[in-house]
Amino acid sequence: MIRVRFAPSPTGYLHLGNIRTALFNYLFAKRTGGKFILRIEDTDQERSRLEFEEALKEDLLWMGLRWDEGPDVGGEHGPYRQSERSGIYSEYIDRLIKEKKAYYCYVTEEETTEMKRLALEERRSVRHDNRGRNFTRAEIESRKVRGIKPTVRFKIDQPELSLNDLVRGDVSFNLDDMVGDFIIQRADGQPTFHLAVCVDDALMGVTHVIRGEDHLSNTPKHILLTRAMGHEPPKYGHLSLVQGPGGEPLSKRMESISIKEFRRRGYLPHALANYIALLGWSPGGDREILNWEELQHLFDITKTSRSASSFDPQKLDWANGEHLRLLSEDAFCRVAAAYLKAYKHVPFDEVFLKTALPAFKENIERLEQLEDRFGIFSDDFKYENSDALKSAESREIFEVGLAVLKTMVETGQAGAEEFCYEAFVNGIKPKVRAKGKKLFLPLRIALTGREHGPELKKIFPAFGAERVRLRLERALGKY
Ligand code: GLU
Repeated sequence: MIRVRFAPSPTGYLHLGNIRTALFNYLFAKRTGGKFILRIEDTDQERSRLEFEEALKEDLLWMGLRWDEGPDVGGEHGPYRQSERSGIYSEYIDRLIKEKKAYYCYVTEEETTEMKRLALEERRSVRHDNRGRNFTRAEIESRKVRGIKPTVRFKIDQPELSLNDLVRGDVSFNLDDMVGDFIIQRADGQPTFHLAVCVDDALMGVTHVIRGEDHLSNTPKHILLTRAMGHEPPKYGHLSLVQGPGGEPLSKRMESISIKEFRRRGYLPHALANYIALLGWSPGGDREILNWEELQHLFDITKTSRSASSFDPQKLDWANGEHLRLLSEDAFCRVAAAYLKAYKHVPFDEVFLKTALPAFKENIERLEQLEDRFGIFSDDFKYENSDALKSAESREIFEVGLAVLKTMVETGQAGAEEFCYEAFVNGIKPKVRAKGKKLFLPLRIALTGREHGPELKKIFPAFGAERVRLRLERALGKY
């Protein structure tokens, strides 16, 4: 069975790049009924915060990425927070030392820094020269006396390593040039990321590691370390980077757009997931709008792009608009009402919810835009084009409109449920000169202040007879 994990460090909010990693892992596992594990990599005590862990869990759940094993839900291979696994890491480190696959290294940080500086100056590749391996007993003793605390380094004795990456195909690494013995336990006794990640992937039975390209250079270390611990390494897939809209590196500003922020701006979770899936992957053909089941069914990690993809906010808006329009009226009302309740203080009642709200489905791309669109209900709106109100034909429409309205009120056709735009317009049409656009545009501007907007027939009942009367009078300049 496929077992994958999403392993965020809770040092900030989830952004586009890391939620894409989570999504691709999830889709990859779910296609074949595999398991999706959430592991919290909180070994950096200083920067890790519980608040970030809570936020990232909330964001994952919002997007529908429910984990099968992990914090809160447990599982057979827990604990799933690295800070709760230190005993396990120490055992592995001790064992590697005992088996002479790792060693205490008394080379100081200053010496390592100097080693790097020299390598750069002499234009050699920056690589630890493993000098600590050959320290004599006397050298080690004298360093101990000077209070130098050792790190633990893992020995690399292999000149090269090749792997078959799920995304990038065959990749070879020249270890002689690139990687020296590397630290698996810091001088303060803490295990490093490399050690923790390999122990956890092995013990949690992770079969595939799908992560960002920035980890590719770590992978030879992880493969060697995992083998040294007596486990078969997982398969790896390294996802290409996400760039900014113009192909530039994702700026700090973009990177810091958290999922929470996308949520606040009124994107639907599955629309955002659909768009994010298109960053580096395509379902083929010219279909791009996919529902959750289709995404899950069609997604193929081996077909994701090796080159970087660019975040395109306009395309995201387009995808979200398409998904909004795919919702049934009921579903749209539900999500829009929930959104407005959570993020905006827009008052709406039952009639409004049932009658007017669906009208906005057609011409918004993000739920956030509803607030502006609702401006038509505010009584102190400004006319976008008041010229269209001034002609004699337009004034005739409003005069007749007021008369029709009066009759509707008198004959009981103006209650909240039955107030009908067609009846109103059909009453006006035969009595005025204007036709078609010349009739409908001035009416729209008089009623809403705007030249464009939702279908009037849908919002008319929510306007109510009194508001329609006041607006027709205002258009006539009576108040
Ligand atoms: N905690 C690592 C990160 O946030 C993930 C490591 C991995 O996926 O192997 O970059």
